[in-house]
Amino acid sequence: MAVNTEQYQRIQDELAAHNVTLVAVSKIKPASDIQALYDLGQRDFGENYVQELVEKQEQLPVDINWHFIGHLQRNKVKYIAPFVHLIHGVDSYNLLKEINKQAIKNHRVINCLLQVHIAQEETKFGLNEEELHALLEKTEDLQQVHIKGLMGMASFSDDEKIVRKEFRMLKKLFDQLKEYRLPQLQAETLSMGMSGDYTMAIEEGSNMVRIGSLLFGRRG
Ligand SMILES: *Cc1c(COP(=O)(O)O)cnc(C)c1O
Repeated sequence: MAVNTEQYQRIQDELAAHNVTLVAVSKIKPASDIQALYDLGQRDFGENYVQELVEKQEQLPVDINWHFIGHLQRNKVKYIAPFVHLIHGVDSYNLLKEINKQAIKNHRVINCLLQVHIAQEETKFGLNEEELHALLEKTEDLQQVHIKGLMGMASFSDDEKIVRKEFRMLKKLFDQLKEYRLPQLQAETLSMGMSGDYTMAIEEGSNMVRIGSLLFGRRG
């Protein structure tokens, strides 16, 4: 399926009006689809799989901001550490420690978002509130990671009330981060909202949305 460029322009205008950053989620889609949106000015792309991301990064323009939005295994951090722009799904100290180690090796700082579990489904990764605060307290020694904010995925539900409530919960935690005075923390980015719920996410305070199927068509 071809890239929906009209839809892209419409969404981009809508997001720009709210100062929301669009991460175009291109997982499973060919590099040519990414290039098509790149040619329209899109620079932020999100991928879920390490090997796929590395292959695409090698083929595509160097000024793309690559977001890793999947579940990252510790032993794979090294492959994306040289170039990744933002890692969205960090949910453990051990992972953060490995990201810091690879950041040092690559002489750079790696920006991360901590993933919070807000959905009702068991399958979604992330920290609860208590774990989030405990992890933040431990970041001080990890000098080459910067925590830029939070990421979350709402329940896959048609019930607007449930989804809205989950987004509100995440926004509240994000606002709490601003109270912290930690050298590694700059609470700037709240990554929430996907194709099915991004409008609501923006209403609830998101400033970064991750949109795949609306732009690239359905996957598989
Ligand atoms: C696949 C994915 C998206 C995009 O989903 P769409 O419904 O296609 O917009 C967003 N965030 C994460 C974490 C994903 O895995």
